[in-house]
Amino acid sequence: MLDEDDGHLPVWDEDRGHPVAWEEEDGHLPAWEVDSECPLAWKDDGEPAAFWEEDGEPAVFWEEDEEPPWAWEEDTEPPSAVGSWAELADSSTALQPEGRGEWCLMQLRNSMSLAEPAEKYLEVEQIGQGAFGTVSKGLNRATGGEAAIKKMSLRGQNRERAVNELLLLKDKKNPNIVNSLDSFLVDGDLWLVMEYMDGGTLQDVLRQTHMAEGEMVAVNQECLQGLDFLHGNPVIHRDLKSSNILLGMDGSVKLADFGLYAQLSPEQDQRRSMVGTAHWMAPEVVTSSPYGPKVDIWSFGIVTIEMVEGEPPYFKETRAMARALIQQNGTPQLQEPRRLLALLWDFLECSLEPDEERRWSAQELLQHPFLSSAKPLSSLTPLITAAKQLREQRRR
Ligand code: ATP
Repeated sequence: MLDEDDGHLPVWDEDRGHPVAWEEEDGHLPAWEVDSECPLAWKDDGEPAAFWEEDGEPAVFWEEDEEPPWAWEEDTEPPSAVGSWAELADSSTALQPEGRGEWCLMQLRNSMSLAEPAEKYLEVEQIGQGAFGTVSKGLNRATGGEAAIKKMSLRGQNRERAVNELLLLKDKKNPNIVNSLDSFLVDGDLWLVMEYMDGGTLQDVLRQTHMAEGEMVAVNQECLQGLDFLHGNPVIHRDLKSSNILLGMDGSVKLADFGLYAQLSPEQDQRRSMVGTAHWMAPEVVTSSPYGPKVDIWSFGIVTIEMVEGEPPYFKETRAMARALIQQNGTPQLQEPRRLLALLWDFLECSLEPDEERRWSAQELLQHPFLSSAKPLSSLTPLITAAKQLREQRRR
């Protein structure tokens, strides 16, 4: 069996449940394109192809002179055509660390409620639809308390993502991290019950209204406290964006959606997999360089741009083009830079510093003078209410 100790384990993409890159010492380029589910193409003679057509533009995928990934070298044939990971898995056992799926399920069984969810929670309505399942509002039958019930399939590649989220939320409790209340296994799905955030997402608010500077500062401060807690643990969120920041009507602000998080350790204090959402990715992620918690700080800077401009930079571009522009341009330019206050601009530059070493940490940003103009969190309530009303009006 292959394991991490031999230095050859492919780097797993928690999102997709398959390897995306090989250890640096093997000298291989990333073997998986982030938007694809499989090795992209192979030449007829079994050599990996060097190029991948994306949006009509060839992107270097594999160095032409490189050998195929070592994992196919031993006793397996390289895949001969594009196919899903599930199709490839049978013939490429070398790429599946043994027992990985079983390990996931074991983790789940150890932390599940044994009761029937319907006995404990009354489902009221569906409130969200993510790429990995649905989210419903529920009521605790005994207490009447509100809850959000996220239902995630445990089949295929989703399993690790679902387990990831459950394990993090059970383990890492903080006022700026959405709190998990319960979890159930229901017909092969994981139901994760969380505190219900009745203000919706930050993205919901930004789509309807403009935030005043003091409101932005208040949200920034709460997000940074959440990030500071995660990074101290040490965990990287890896998918920070306004749709993963939840708001309460009382003005509470919490980070959510931990399906892609990475736990660091003294032995492994960096990651390489290109995971996350393209427009929010840090330069070191799009170039598949080793990275640490500061990738979240870049994404946080992009969220701050969302608060100023309503959308992240390059939003009208394809994901591939956005990644290319992030790599090429460094700190993004704003559409109307002159409207920005000097302190906010400085704050953005500290968060969106392309050099990870020089980019500020969450702890450092919490000391930035821009944060001294925070309005109280209760000032977010009218803003969230206005955004809800506008959304209702536009729906009619
Ligand atoms: P994504 O496609 O962004 O990865 P996902 O499948 O991981 O999504 P979430 O983003 O976690 O799902 O949730 C989808 C939606 O459900 C959110 O955008 C939000 O509107 C709602 N939602 C999620 N969690 C909560 C919660 N705790 N309280 C209230 N609403 C929630």
